[in-house]
Amino acid sequence: LYVDHPLGAGQSVPLDRDQAHYLFGVMRQGAGAPVLLFNGRDGEWLATVTEAGKRGGLLSCEEQTRPLQLPPDLWLLFAPIKKARTDFIVEKAAEMGAARIVPVQTEFTNAERIRRDRLQAHAVEAAEQCGGTFVPEVADLVPLSRLLADWPEDRRLMWCDEALVGGSAGLPDGAAGPWAILIGPEGGFSEVERSRLKALPQAVPVSLGPRILRADTAAVAALTLWQDQLGD
Ligand code: SAM
Repeated sequence: LYVDHPLGAGQSVPLDRDQAHYLFGVMRQGAGAPVLLFNGRDGEWLATVTEAGKRGGLLSCEEQTRPLQLPPDLWLLFAPIKKARTDFIVEKAAEMGAARIVPVQTEFTNAERIRRDRLQAHAVEAAEQCGGTFVPEVADLVPLSRLLADWPEDRRLMWCDEALVGGSAGLPDGAAGPWAILIGPEGGFSEVERSRLKALPQAVPVSLGPRILRADTAAVAALTLWQDQLGD
């Protein structure tokens, strides 16, 4: 169970109404039940329910069962699309071990704003689902131009471009990281964006195969390709 609270030996951890409903209502746990907790920072802890109510509860932390396991330092940058598909991208990126998820506004991106809190909640759920101890941070929507202007010198950018379809671009084997992956919007990248990306020495254009994939499919394919060739 994810809690936004410090975890440590003897620490009391309060539960809010939703967490109490899940644990005591849906999962049918009560006082004395053991529960595994994580907060994305302190690893996984075994706790015991000390108070179980309808509107909240209290747990007492006992011992650490796993240390914090950090994923590789990989960022996923993507242009938000329709709500459900954007949720899907965040969920899959968190499951596949991206350390940071950055929604980007490109010229042809339809979304003007995002619900960062909602996307962050999806990342938490995905971490819970795959038994992780770490939750990737979902950043605020940032314009691609600003992102590229401030691009860190040491971070390489796997720029997925459907315009390369039929081309032979691939990932350089074992190239030193850290890395970021960039997925464009449904309308693809504009010519201005392509020339900015071409001018960025850290950017490596990558093809995801001979077919044009929907952006959500492209995100999963790119994460898989990165894992296979560069992940640990
Ligand atoms: N509007 C574009 C078109 O019709 O040509 C398609 C954009 S595609 C639906 C969305 C994004 O997924 C692209 O910007 C790119 O980042 C990625 N993508 C999809 N297929 C790809 C491929 N075969 N190789 C590399 N990137 C791909």
